[in-house]
Amino acid sequence: MSIWIIPFIAGVLSYILLKNRPRLRNIFMAVCGLFLIGHVVVSRTKPLPPAIGKPIRVLCTTGIAGDLVRNIAGSDVELDVVIRGDMDPHSYELVKGDDEKFSGADLVFASGLMLEHSASMQYVLKNHPNAVLLGNVILAEDPDEVIYVDGQLDPHIWMDPHLWKRCAPLAAQALSKVDPAHGEAFYERAKEYENRLEELDLEIRELFGKLPPHKKYLVTSHDAFNYFVRAYFCADDEKGKWDRRINALQGLAPDDQISPLDIKRIVDFIANNRVAAIFPETNLSTDSLNKVIETARKLGGSVKLSPIPIYGDTLGEAGSGAETYIQMVRHNAAVIYDALSEET
Ligand SMILES: [Zn+2]
Repeated sequence: MSIWIIPFIAGVLSYILLKNRPRLRNIFMAVCGLFLIGHVVVSRTKPLPPAIGKPIRVLCTTGIAGDLVRNIAGSDVELDVVIRGDMDPHSYELVKGDDEKFSGADLVFASGLMLEHSASMQYVLKNHPNAVLLGNVILAEDPDEVIYVDGQLDPHIWMDPHLWKRCAPLAAQALSKVDPAHGEAFYERAKEYENRLEELDLEIRELFGKLPPHKKYLVTSHDAFNYFVRAYFCADDEKGKWDRRINALQGLAPDDQISPLDIKRIVDFIANNRVAAIFPETNLSTDSLNKVIETARKLGGSVKLSPIPIYGDTLGEAGSGAETYIQMVRHNAAVIYDALSEET
């Protein structure tokens, strides 16, 4: 039985028993009312502690955030992911059963920076008492690291492993608050995972160090690779001008209409920078990129469509070889490097 029942019963009793002493009755009822309101406010802002001996329930919005948290939480928590498979995290609206997942979760991790921008997703993230928006924490701590495109936050921070690794201690901290008994293990795993992401970053940096600057131009379906290009295509003195080395048919979310002007913009970028290959994404149609290829070739260009797609907002399905974050980033780096390093 919830503790709120005590001020409620006291209020009812004072109403009945103090009928002949209206002033005292009003004071009693006002005090009981304040207790009730206070309890409601506290219970909305402070989640109940998880049942003793049971693993805490952790919910992650995306597969990429889920993979990060899984590496840190290990088997000490019950972990679930809301947006699975190829679904677009930008536009995902809650479906039947998702509300229960959010209300039953002791802790929620979202990628943040308005990646999950649908109305229903924003509502549950704002109202969950224990939701951590990883990208927003990075924005608050280090605003210069976050990219803006036409005044909008670019949420694709996972495309730079050096930046994404900063989410590991944030996850360990949030997990430890809810489950202090496993705090030490969470921090240890976070440290190990940070080291693995640091190695991944060095490996990719070394790979693209072999690609000459004139071949470092990236064209993709949607604008998900700005952090990748800033990290691996730009010399230190070029980091502020990363946008010269990348172009995409669609904006930060792949739900815009593609116009003939978009096709022309990409064809011009390909011609001006002698781009060797352009890259489809696993969960998006290749129709518009095919139109780009067709138009560019009509104008005498020799650009190719990469036969292997890359991952923008999702991980690969089981058996794809890209089902973890580290595998996915390695896959993308290898596909991009192989296609751009080919002789044209
Ligand atoms: Zn995206």
